[in-house]
Amino acid sequence: MDSMISQLCPVCGYELGFPPWKGESASDEISPCCFIQFGYDDWAKGRPEFRKEIYDAWRKNWISEGLKWRGKGQKPPHGWNPIQQLATIGTAKGENNRTRQI
Ligand SMILES: [Zn+2]
Repeated sequence: MDSMISQLCPVCGYELGFPPWKGESASDEISPCCFIQFGYDDWAKGRPEFRKEIYDAWRKNWISEGLKWRGKGQKPPHGWNPIQQLATIGTAKGENNRTRQI
């Protein structure tokens, strides 16, 4: 078991600066990159085992839209590299071309 609490967005790999979830408690914050809201968009009816599917679907949607910075009111960091960012969570563009609707 990895006891470290990741502060990376599970969808896009963005360094959030806060853990999206602490155990079963959601941060209710939004990833400024892919714009998922933890505890809302990934609520999955309170069933954490379904969260990964939501992340995968959200990520595919984000990739299919061209890895755009979705945050309004917040600009991407200097030198922002979404491909590199995705690599930090072990996913890469084009891993799976099937796109699921959310
Ligand atoms: Zn994100």
